[in-house]
Parts: sequence; C-alpha cells; structure tokens
Amino acid sequence: MEHSELIEILDAADMVLVGMGEDFEGKEALEQNEDYLKVCGEIADAGMEWIMPYVNRYFSEKNEKLQMALQALKKLLDKRNYFVVSVCMNGMAAETGILPERMTEPCGSYTKLQCASGCEGSILPVETMFLKEIEKCIRGEKEWRMLETPVCEQCQSPMVFNSLYAEHYAEEGYKAGWERYTKWLQGTLGKKLCVLELGAGLMFAGILRFRFEKIVALNQKAGIVRIHRSLYQMPNEISGRGKSISQNAVDFMAETAKL
Ligand SMILES: [Zn+2]
Repeated sequence: MEHSELIEILDAADMVLVGMGEDFEGKEALEQNEDYLKVCGEIADAGMEWIMPYVNRYFSEKNEKLQMALQALKKLLDKRNYFVVSVCMNGMAAETGILPERMTEPCGSYTKLQCASGCEGSILPVETMFLKEIEKCIRGEKEWRMLETPVCEQCQSPMVFNSLYAEHYAEEGYKAGWERYTKWLQGTLGKKLCVLELGAGLMFAGILRFRFEKIVALNQKAGIVRIHRSLYQMPNEISGRGKSISQNAVDFMAETAKL
C-alpha cells in the first residue's frame, strides 16, 4: 500500500480511530543507546522502575524518526473526527499536539503521580521541577537515591508515576479518558469508521488488536489498516475490509511526513 492510499482511505472516512502500539515507545532505538542502558542499570539497582516513563521520554526526545512519525500522525488527524488509544507511556503523542480530550492512555504516562501503595484518590499532576530533578539524576549530577519524591497525603508512601510501571497501578488515572473513548465509540455505529492500528503487538492485544477487530466486525461500514512488521495478519471475517502493511509503524508514518 502506498502512503497516498492511506490518505485517500482517511479522506473517505467519517471518523478515525487510532491505536498507537508499542512501536511508538521507540524501544529499538533506546536499546542501542549506551547512555540509556547505563541509566536503566542504575534504576534497576535503585529499585525505581516506576520512573521509566520519563526516562524513556527523555532519551526518545532525540529520536528524530519517532518525532517525525508523531508529527505526521498529528498532521493526518488534524481537522478529522479522531480518537487515539495509546498504550505508550512516554507521553509524546500529547506533546506533539494530539488533543488530550481526544486521547486515552490506558497504560498511563509520566504526566501524573499516584501513591506507590495505590491509595484511592491520590492522583496528582506532575510538577516540572520534579522532572528537572529526574533529569539531573539521568545526567549523573545527582544520585537516584537522593531524588526527593512527594509523599501521599493519606499514607505517607512516596508518590510514583501513574503508569503500568507502578507496583500498584491506579487505573483511575485514565478513567475519564476511557469514558470519553467509549462515548466517542458509541457515535461510530453506522458511520464510516477507519481504524488505523499502528505497531500494536500482542502485549496489549485486549486494548488494541482484538478489541479493534471486534469494533470493525460490528460495523459493516468500518475498515481497518493494520501496520506491523510481523503481526500484520487480519482475521478472515474482516479481511475484506482490511489492509495490512508489513512494516514498523514508526518507519511508515515517518515516510508519510514526506508527502
Ligand atoms: Zn497512599
């Protein structure tokens, strides 16, 4: 499939549902970065895995291809009736300008804090100052164990990022976004819906792949474009309304930027 064909498909649709999968975490590039791997080792030693969403975001900022792919996606969605379900935790889609009210991040990100023990009602927005302190640790100007985290008002446990990396992930953090998503989805019935599934593997198949297949199966006017290097296959019942592309979704979207 040509990149221009994707634009034609989107132009013909009333509504666009985007699934941003694991490809958008930019793991391949990160794992080739020695500074990143060194920091990961320090974090594992300190037992602070909860901090990874921001560490991934910090190192991915220099990933030009990822940035280009996100910009291209934003441009493709502008002026369309879209909703994005992202399983990425690096928060970069929102930073690119994809509207927060048109997005849900069921795996969380670094933009909110929660109680490490999972107290209900503990979720707070993250302060920029706190992120600056983390950056000092990443650059080696400060030791990880010296990082001062806010504490939970209810139980005095440290606060951690509200993401799947937290030992007790507080799912209430994405509740409002998920409710907006289900409401938006109800409005797709009988509409020409284009489902654009970008680089979603099996890790969150219940949120993206399988769920998306059901959405397409239920709406005869819906179609799906599935982009994944190896898992691009489509179930028979919807294959007539599906397009598969065997490519890394970030690579594909970055190429779209050149159109
Ligand atoms: Zn607490």
